[in-house]
Amino acid sequence: MTITAEHVLERARTPFRNEPLTDFSRPENRQAQEEALAQVRSELGRTYPLIIGGQHIQNSDTFASVNPAQPDQVIGYFSRATLEQVDQAVRVAAEAFEQWKRVPAHERANYLFAAADRLRERRFLFNAWMIYEVAKSWTEADADTAEAIDFLEFYAREMLRLAEEQPLVRIPDEDNELVYIPLGVGAVIPPWNFPGAIMVGMTSASFVAGNTVVLKPSSASPAIAAQFVRILEEIGLPAGVVNFLTGAGSSIGDALVSHPLTRFIAFTGSRDVGLRINELAAKTQPGQRWIKRTILEMGGKDAIVVDETADLEAAANGIVVSAFGFQGQKCSACSRAIIVESVYDQVLQKVVEKAKQLSVGDVTRPETFMGPVIDANAFKKITDYIEIGKGEGRLVLGGGHHGPGYYIEPTIFADVDPHARIAQEEIFGPVLAFIRAKDFSDALRIANDTEYGLTGSVYTRDPERIQRAKEEFHVGNLYFNRKCTGALVGVHPFGGFNMSGTDSKAGGRDYLLLFTQAKAISAKKL
Ligand code: NAP
Repeated sequence: MTITAEHVLERARTPFRNEPLTDFSRPENRQAQEEALAQVRSELGRTYPLIIGGQHIQNSDTFASVNPAQPDQVIGYFSRATLEQVDQAVRVAAEAFEQWKRVPAHERANYLFAAADRLRERRFLFNAWMIYEVAKSWTEADADTAEAIDFLEFYAREMLRLAEEQPLVRIPDEDNELVYIPLGVGAVIPPWNFPGAIMVGMTSASFVAGNTVVLKPSSASPAIAAQFVRILEEIGLPAGVVNFLTGAGSSIGDALVSHPLTRFIAFTGSRDVGLRINELAAKTQPGQRWIKRTILEMGGKDAIVVDETADLEAAANGIVVSAFGFQGQKCSACSRAIIVESVYDQVLQKVVEKAKQLSVGDVTRPETFMGPVIDANAFKKITDYIEIGKGEGRLVLGGGHHGPGYYIEPTIFADVDPHARIAQEEIFGPVLAFIRAKDFSDALRIANDTEYGLTGSVYTRDPERIQRAKEEFHVGNLYFNRKCTGALVGVHPFGGFNMSGTDSKAGGRDYLLLFTQAKAISAKKL
């Protein structure tokens, strides 16, 4: 069927709405999720090829992605791309760009709508892949899939908006227009912690804007990316528009970033890797004809501030969910609870009591709140920080761990100095530092006193303090009287300040502009 602009615009006329989350209290949804888990279990251990220009290429050199809950269970085997294959993938993407950039915006947008439909049909399967590959709980996995669908629906509409006639000031003797054109080949490098949403979001934003892509998924979550790439093949996305390249970032990342035909890099991940990419991308290579653009979203050391006017029960709930949801492995996770002195003991006690109730264990069971952390490296890093914390604060909860999966208890240190390492460095695990502030001003000062600036939340009932925090709390996503995680596409455009990244505001109206360049065209009236 030919896709007409009307057909696509008709669909886009339905205003964007966030995909509802699955209600797992309903027996039919629980059953569907159980069945999807069984199906995915039967598909574990398969071997996946690289995909370059539509060709499936199987290398003999492979690596395994494993289940963090059961590290001897292989999720899938993936080819380690060679440096020659990096070069090949970028060149193929550059060739494909010459055609793809001419495909009308409505056709490109329609691929996103089609992919969103497939993802909805496979919602429970996609959840199941995440439950197995990165140990998300049912609700965390489901929210990740919903966000992936949201990005597809949102960016499709955004592309159609950017393709409309753009408002310009008119002058009598000229016809003027401004059009958003694509950049070229993008290296898309997502993290494992939102292996559906961020991978889908960065990839789809890139190609809907008319760019072609080399997608290098995280080595901890390539199977989830492979499921999405399969969908792109099924919906008939032309070969070469999205190329799938697996392998360790430390081996092939530099070649991908510094390739002279790479035009931009869309990266989400740690501070150190982001800074390295920024540096490499800034170096002009022989034959390179542009300044590479970098879209870098990095780490956080996010704080929740609570003052004496706040609803302390709500604050404690917000802290616990933000600190320990998905094992604290969110860039937006609360790793610092900054509490004014007069309510410090009360809030600490409530948080400890609530965190004690959290279930840690098998995430294939619907009632489990926390599973293991992602891998052996993360496990070592987090348990090392727990040891450091023992010298920097008072351990009031957790601190323990158990195997064979990478399980770490929800851990809380009290009375931590704002400049302690566990109060400054991103741990990326279930470790929360409680910090005592003299008063609200002191709390805000402490909150701002890290090199990061991603999310933050303030629990207060005082309107003047709300106003002050709006002006002074220097974070990309600021919340009041709610958790500091759980940004919704379209509702809370997401991205951070300072060492948290380039503030790209994923899921917002500014995002697609980062994947385009504007061309102003002026013709003298004859
Ligand atoms: P990471 O270790 O920095 O890895 C991110 C991606 O970069 C992976 O695909 C990785 O591949 C790749 N990579 C590694 N070394 C590279 C190199 N030299 N050149 C190019 N690519 C390279 O981060 P992560 O552990 O996956 O994710 C956790 C981090 O992401 C945390 O810091 C978190 O705060 C941050 N994060 C930020 C946001 C945000 O929106 N600001 C959202 C989510 C996560 P391999 O897996 O093969 O090493």
